[in-house]
This record gives sequence, structure tokens and C-alpha cells, in this order.
Amino acid sequence: MPELPDVEGFREVLESCAKGRVIRRVDVRDTGVLHGVSTRRLRDALEGRRFTEPERHGKWLLARTGGPTLVLHFGMTGRLVCGRPEDAVEAHDRVLFTVSGGHQLRYRDQRKLQGLWLCDDESEVARLLDRQGPDAMAVDRGEFEAALSARRGSVKTVLTDQSVLAGLGNLLADEILWRARLRPTIRASDLTETDRRHLYTHMRRTLRSAVTAGCVPPRDSWLTGHRDTPDPTCPRCGDHLRRSRMAGRSTVWCPRCQSQGSLGRRRRAVRTGEPSGRGSRQGGGAVGTESRGHGEPSDGGGRAGVAVEDLAGVPGPVLRRDGAGARLGADELAPRECQDVLAGGGAAADEAPRDEDAVAVAYAEHALVEELVVQ
Ligand SMILES: [Zn+2]
Repeated sequence: MPELPDVEGFREVLESCAKGRVIRRVDVRDTGVLHGVSTRRLRDALEGRRFTEPERHGKWLLARTGGPTLVLHFGMTGRLVCGRPEDAVEAHDRVLFTVSGGHQLRYRDQRKLQGLWLCDDESEVARLLDRQGPDAMAVDRGEFEAALSARRGSVKTVLTDQSVLAGLGNLLADEILWRARLRPTIRASDLTETDRRHLYTHMRRTLRSAVTAGCVPPRDSWLTGHRDTPDPTCPRCGDHLRRSRMAGRSTVWCPRCQSQGSLGRRRRAVRTGEPSGRGSRQGGGAVGTESRGHGEPSDGGGRAGVAVEDLAGVPGPVLRRDGAGARLGADELAPRECQDVLAGGGAAADEAPRDEDAVAVAYAEHALVEELVVQ
């Protein structure tokens, strides 16, 4: 399911493929992805206009034209690809936008759980996104902490609630909580100020790495790289990971390194005599893995052989920025690391996703939006 980093990748695809170009033709191959707009109105509104700087909010992509705004959501299997008009049309290409300069932007989606909206002006955009919380990349520390402390429910549920924070999905929430060493079941309102601060820091770091990668990368040093393996183990301590259902989704965490928050750590420290501090990276070498607290997943105390590339960042998506001169196949636009992930939303998506609960969540998000459009 595309999360913030994937949609940010689609924003970059839109920018490099179509920004500044005139929309020559809109070809709707499946009206099932249009919401509140007919093919005719979509064509009339967009053809002849020029795509301007695209924006993203959470999992939503805003394709602005200086007039009406095309708003896209990728549901569970959607993606945006850039090609040429003469490229073969694929089965799940739902809407094609031929732009000047020989480029064609394609909204490709197998399951059609979300789709495209057309907003005539900014007030319509605002109404469509009315229930979205602040974007997870843009939210500041104070806003984040206030949103979290005001919510009931588990921290996992709160983090993935788009009305609290827009952009985090199942993978990101599990990854961030694992890095922050917080158990997903802790009530958000029970987090201490320290916990919330660390959670924010790890959210920022995780998002930065994932946005650079163009997806939540299944690296060996990330929880995401292990969660779908049979009998998965924690890349930090080697213990078996646990799996449960939360907020209707499959939740994965490490029972050893993810504690009940600062209060839980303090209690444990009293029992075992271990230091209870949030063992920082600076002091991390002197203490054991457990008392390392909020240290990074791969700061040297984890399983041998775990790389630290997620901290250093990965090479930037150079090709995406390459604009007109670059070859524009979707494969060239995505960093290699995320190709398998993207392919999973495209070619391989003929198989029904296994996590049927994800479908339910996508439907719920959809229903929320439909309700707004109908008003
Ligand atoms: Zn662990």
C-alpha cells in the first residue's frame, strides 16, 4: 500500500514527466477510478492546460494546473508512471495524460480502491482534504506531540490515523515504533514527553531515508526487511518478532527491544539494576543492548553484520530529477532498491494481496472521502 515515501516518489515522477508541459490529451480507459467527475468534464477542464508544481499531502497528490487541480490517491495498488504515448498500454493503466514533449503520464492501479478527483478551486481541495491531519514530513515537533497526547487508543492506531497525521501507513508505523523501541500497544496518552520526543525524532529519520529510497525499503537493517519472512527475527537483537492485529492491520514488533515506554524502562531498570537512561549513541558503547534505549537500530549494538546505511542515507534519486533528457521508463525513474516494491503494486498485483485487512482499511479511507464528495 503506497505510503508517504511512495507518493512522494509519484510526485517526483509527475514533476519530472509533466511539470511545465501542456496537457494535450486525457484518455480515460476506466471511469471506475473517477470520483465526482465525468470523462468529458475531466477532459474539458484539463486539456490545453499546463501542469504546474505538484504537491503532496500525506498520501494525496495534488496535480496543479494553475486552474483546476487534479487530486490523486493511490489506494492499495496505485502508482504513477511516466512513459511515451507509443508505449504499449498495460491492463491496469486507467487514465493516460499525454503531455507536450512526447511524454505520457499514466495512473496505473489494479484494485481501484481510490482514484482521481477534480477540484475547481482551492476551497474544493481544502474540502476534499479537510479531515487530513498535518503531513507527517511537515509536522513540527510541538504539533506532533500535541496531536499524540490528545488521542486515546494505542500509539500504532494513532500514528496510522490519517486525521491525526497524514502519510504514515502500516509499514512506516511499525518501523518507526521499532526504531523508537516503543511497543505498538502503548496508549498514546501514556507516552511521556521523552517518549514523544524520541518518536518524533525517529519518525523524521525513518521518513527521510524512506523518501530517499522511494518506498519503505525492505533493508536487512530495517524491521521492514524482516517482517514478511517466515519466522522473522529482530535485526537488532535477534529475538523472534511478534505479530498481531492492531487497527485492523498486521502489526510486527520485537518483544525484547520494544518496551512499554519510559515508565516501563524505569521499572525494568529498578528490577535489574541496569541503567535506565535512554542510552544515547554517544554513550551506547558502554551499555548493553537493552539499556541502549532509543539508540539507532544499527548503532553497533545489534546483530553483527547489520549495515548502517540507513543512517547515512542512500544515493539520491538522481534519475528522477533528470527531466527531459532522461529515459523515462518507470524503471529508470525509481531507485533500484524500491523496484521490487513498486512492481508488487503493478505487475505482480494480479495476485490478490494477502492482507485482506488492508483492503478494508483502504475502503474505509475511501468511504470517508466519498462521504465528503457527496455532501
Ligand atoms: Zn529486538
